[in-house]
Amino acid sequence: MKTIDLRSDTITRPSQAMRQAMMIAEVGDDVFGDDPTVNELERYVAELFEREASLFMPSGTMANQVCLKVHSSPGWELLCDRDCHVVNYEAAGPAVHSSLLVNLLSTDRGMVTAEMIQQNIRPINLHCPLTKMVTLENSHNRHGGTILPQDEILRVREVCDEHGLILHLDGARIWNVHVATGLSLPELTKPFDSISVCLSKGLGAPVGSMILGSAEFIDRCRRERKLFGGGMRQAGIIAAAGLYALKNNLERLTEDHANARNLAEGLNQFQMLSVDLSRVETNIVLADISGPETVESVLGKMKDVGVLAVPFGPKRIRMVTHLDVTRSDCNEALDQIREVFN
Ligand SMILES: *Cc1c(COP(=O)(O)O)cnc(C)c1O
Repeated sequence: MKTIDLRSDTITRPSQAMRQAMMIAEVGDDVFGDDPTVNELERYVAELFEREASLFMPSGTMANQVCLKVHSSPGWELLCDRDCHVVNYEAAGPAVHSSLLVNLLSTDRGMVTAEMIQQNIRPINLHCPLTKMVTLENSHNRHGGTILPQDEILRVREVCDEHGLILHLDGARIWNVHVATGLSLPELTKPFDSISVCLSKGLGAPVGSMILGSAEFIDRCRRERKLFGGGMRQAGIIAAAGLYALKNNLERLTEDHANARNLAEGLNQFQMLSVDLSRVETNIVLADISGPETVESVLGKMKDVGVLAVPFGPKRIRMVTHLDVTRSDCNEALDQIREVFN
């Protein structure tokens, strides 16, 4: 039986052409700054985002956590959406690595608004924590791949400037926002002091994330990466996959978005599932289960017919379209799910 794996866009495997690029990559010791392919990737990504510098990181988690650490001092307060990756899926990183106090805000579609920030900045006095940082996530994973409104991001930047707050972007899936909105990567990310992006999600590289920021910030991140144990030696092998991914797999993300919409509309036809179609803006589909079935039973039955998804709350499942599933795979998945539940 064929398996259609919609658990995440992280499951993509390097293609033959990507492996070829990896095989012929020139390498050196990147901890000495000697890996030409890593250096090329860092230059390429910095130019893509029109930033002074970028840094190759082993994972998105380390990328976010190194940014928070370099920006902050212990005891600072971080404002973010309550469903953000930085807090929910990075193993308590802000507390463990940076001794940050986190204020989790309830938002609509993941957008921490300028007004919310204004309302949550504490007075500066002896008693209160110092509210010093904000992180946004775009697209927003737990809200269903939703896109943050760019005009509101600009207002957030203004409030951060007024109050001396640092603004970080978890842009693991900023690529999806770029192709969905047509806004350029520099335009989407200009308001942020630092940015993390993932090469190993929809872009299809096997490993790697990047941090972007000022040259001075990136220098400090390089040291912090070493401290985290993330200094890599002949990393050109994997940097080559990142370069290949950026040059070949970026614009095609529109296919994933069209497939997600098709899948969402199909799932919405089934009585026991409902999808908020207004939230299907990129490659993520959240389906709510109505009736007595549990998430476990629904996922179990789907797995029995070769369709994989992940639990995403007590009555919710998540499916993600990606490079390794085609439109016909999505239609086949819908057929299989229909069989099971009829
Ligand atoms: C995947 C992801 C990351 C990075 O997670 P890793 O498991 O370290 O790859 C960060 N932020 C968001 C929103 C993500 O989806």
